[in-house]
Amino acid sequence: MATIAHYTAYKPRPFTREERETTTILFGGLTWKHERLVQGALHNLNYKAEPLPNISRADLDAGKEMIDVGACCPTIFTTGNLVNFLKSEVAARSQQEVVNKYVFLTAGACGPCRFGQYNRYHRLILDELGYQDVPVYAPDQDGNFYRELNIVNGNFPRLGWWGICGIDLLEKRLREVRPYEKNPGDAEKVYWEFVHKVCDAVTAKRFPDKELREAKEAFRRVPVNPIGGRPIIGVVGEIYVRSNRFSNENMVKKLEALGAEVRMPTIGEWIYYTNFCNKRKTWERGQIGDYFRTITSDFFQRRDEKKMENIINGDMRSGHEPPVKEIIERAAPYLHDSFEGEAVLSIGKSLEYIAHGCHGIVNAMPFTCMPGTVVNAILKRLRENNSNIPYLHMVYEGAEDTNANTRMEAFVHQAREFMERKDAASSVQPGKSNKGKEAHV
Ligand code: SF4
Repeated sequence: MATIAHYTAYKPRPFTREERETTTILFGGLTWKHERLVQGALHNLNYKAEPLPNISRADLDAGKEMIDVGACCPTIFTTGNLVNFLKSEVAARSQQEVVNKYVFLTAGACGPCRFGQYNRYHRLILDELGYQDVPVYAPDQDGNFYRELNIVNGNFPRLGWWGICGIDLLEKRLREVRPYEKNPGDAEKVYWEFVHKVCDAVTAKRFPDKELREAKEAFRRVPVNPIGGRPIIGVVGEIYVRSNRFSNENMVKKLEALGAEVRMPTIGEWIYYTNFCNKRKTWERGQIGDYFRTITSDFFQRRDEKKMENIINGDMRSGHEPPVKEIIERAAPYLHDSFEGEAVLSIGKSLEYIAHGCHGIVNAMPFTCMPGTVVNAILKRLRENNSNIPYLHMVYEGAEDTNANTRMEAFVHQAREFMERKDAASSVQPGKSNKGKEAHV
């Protein structure tokens, strides 16, 4: 009689210290700059590391062929990207060399959405293609995140954090300056120059304070038109789609071209949120060591972030990031915080945008995203409770939607009208409410 083999979760073999010399850690799946940062931090710890190439149309096509049709589009992108890269490596050398050379690092999680299944998909597909011996490491973002990250031990989380915070701040300044620049491309030139410099500082294990000071001055030197007069749009939604320009079809630039100024949650917000959830879970499970490890990391992360924010202080019109606890409290009337994941952050952040005078909300989500669908449903009520603030629901799946531009155009028009109504109600000249006097930001 056939015996039933019970399911056991995949566990990769340990990554040993000796392998550092010969094995390259492959990773990818967010944006080029964050990957460059992770690479710098890993090199710094004497690991060989290589980000996957930027996502392309070919990756999307390859991912669609291999992945179940119901999968979320970030999984499709990342799987196609990984497989295409490995295939190109095999074409240049032997399959055995490739198998011996690489391990794959991604993120894992447990919880209600499908994120925790990504790394299982990667495993299944690599097995099917004959890469059984390429291990997939997926540190759990929940309770064990910091401990599991010790497959790459040392100062990795701290160095990575400096880079994440530095780039978050540069992005904020870019989105505040670019819509008003006199010469198209000036703000982005400054931004990229300092993204590289911040990455270099992190690679050299140096806190990037000097680079941020210089970036502040460089952004000030960008010639700009008078600041303000544009509707402010707050973007919420799934972290991959809202951060990756290829997968969101350059949403921020499109909104800016239509006359808006855009706000976006930071990547750091997600790290703080995982800390928040980790603290709660590790405490409930009696994992006291992990609990205190998370509290300590959170403490130092906040301290480092504050130091960086103080450097840019005074120039940031979008203000400092609120503590995650505050965002979750704002969301409480609509969504209980036990419903963990991006939905509660998106709802809380939307309310924070509204409290700070935004004129429209965009929810960017991958096709069939579960938290994104919840957010969409709740935002309908939320906007009714907030003067019917214009709201746009953008669904991305990799195929360019020809309607998207028309919908965005109508949305920015509504946001402008909303701004003018608000201005009129507060007896300010229409369209002038956020107009500053400065020639430079
Ligand atoms: S957040 Fe959305 S897109 Fe991401 S894994 Fe969960 S359901 Fe999929």
